[in-house]
Amino acid sequence: MVKLSTVPVPGCCEMLTGVGKHSIDVAVCLCCAHRTGGGTCPICFWTDDGSTEQNAGTPRGGPNGDLSLADARLNYAIYNASHPRYQDAVRQPRPEELP
Ligand SMILES: [Zn+2]
Repeated sequence: MVKLSTVPVPGCCEMLTGVGKHSIDVAVCLCCAHRTGGGTCPICFWTDDGSTEQNAGTPRGGPNGDLSLADARLNYAIYNASHPRYQDAVRQPRPEELP
């Protein structure tokens, strides 16, 4: 007899367990999409400044200076940081922070 439903999916169950311990509404970083809870993201160093999809191309001049959300995303894709100057400050995402 084959029990298909009991086959574990590697990584999947672990991640669900990790998320379950924390509140499910942990804020997702707008720049790198990891669950880092808002504020300054330790994974990409983007600071949540109220940017939205609608104004992603416009720098807001807040904690991110002249960096727009769109630019930060591009930088993250290239440097793994929202700006090259943050490359030494960022860290790898933890499993429970993955999108
Ligand atoms: Zn981030």
